Amino acid sequence: MLLFTPGPTPVPENIRQAMAKETIHHRTPEFSKIFKEARELLLELLKTDEVVMLSSSGTGAMEASVTNLCHKKALTINAGKFGDRFGKICKAHNIEHIELKYDWDTPCDVDEVERVVKENSDIDAIFLQICESSGGLRHPVEEVAKRVKEIRDDIIVVADGITAVGVEPIDTTNIDALIAGSQKALMLPPGLAMIGLSQRAIEKIGSGKGFYFNLANELKKQKDATTAFTPATTIIIGLREILKEIKKYGFEYLYEETSKRALATREALKAIGLKIYPKKPANSMTAIFDENAEEIRNILKTRYGVNIAGGQEHLKGKLFRINHMGLIKPYEAAWVVNAIERALDDIGRLKYSGIANKIFNELIK
Ligand SMILES: *Cc1c(COP(=O)(O)O)cnc(C)c1O
Repeated sequence: MLLFTPGPTPVPENIRQAMAKETIHHRTPEFSKIFKEARELLLELLKTDEVVMLSSSGTGAMEASVTNLCHKKALTINAGKFGDRFGKICKAHNIEHIELKYDWDTPCDVDEVERVVKENSDIDAIFLQICESSGGLRHPVEEVAKRVKEIRDDIIVVADGITAVGVEPIDTTNIDALIAGSQKALMLPPGLAMIGLSQRAIEKIGSGKGFYFNLANELKKQKDATTAFTPATTIIIGLREILKEIKKYGFEYLYEETSKRALATREALKAIGLKIYPKKPANSMTAIFDENAEEIRNILKTRYGVNIAGGQEHLKGKLFRINHMGLIKPYEAAWVVNAIERALDDIGRLKYSGIANKIFNELIK
């Protein structure tokens, strides 16, 4: 079965092998060496001043960013489940917040963000996704960050890049915290979250907040190539391997291949009459709005060996999402668009001609 869900993504064979070795103790020079190398590679990928790794899923890093980086009032951008989650985290910690809500296919409005930030002088941190995975939407994060900093340069900009880091180059000039997760574009098992931090973010963190997710504590330890608590050693071993592997070809190569695949998939699917859901699609996935989404997904799974994701909440049964993250073989991605065309024939929507596969292959060259 081809796993084409936008997280988790398949773990390459050589990375699985690297993680299959005997467990090593984390308080040893051997592990410290691995940790240090993983950290350095991560900094090259994130292009931030510092980085902390946390043993948690991505949401742990979202929570740590809220608790450590917002001291007064948060502005959260909600165009889907993950943006909504930032608001829920604020609520859980009794942190005052204003939420700007958008339809799941609509990127946030930079002017509206500017207006709210100007009207609320106590907003000291803004939280948004780079790609909101619920609808495969790309928010204009760079513009938001720039505009917000022009108003008050001490506002902390937290970008959830869980489905953007490793997908496209991210301009971190005005971003203070950049969140990544292991099971999406980094092609690793779930369980490790990472936050790239700017110098300004480090100053704002001060002595940190909370216990397990105290970022000051963690950062201090991690700069010394160790961690405050038992780290996810296996995934960190995998992280070092995958980053070394990506670096062999260059990060740019990964971004270009992902972008080509995303474009080719979108064009192939448009050619067979499918509707791209978001107004501004991200390159991490293609989200298709379709009344027969469930039926198509079922056929893909049972007849063509392809596993893609559906929609959530109000889009359940109306959306399907195809992953583009990671080092994906073009022939696998070509099979996916071909299988979708065959599924459309199976439900009587069209007569199969192989046009999706043809367009995909022309564009992927
Ligand atoms: C997957 C994802 C998360 C984190 O989810 P976890 O299940 O906690 O790893 C956060 N934000 C976005 C945009 C995601 O796609």
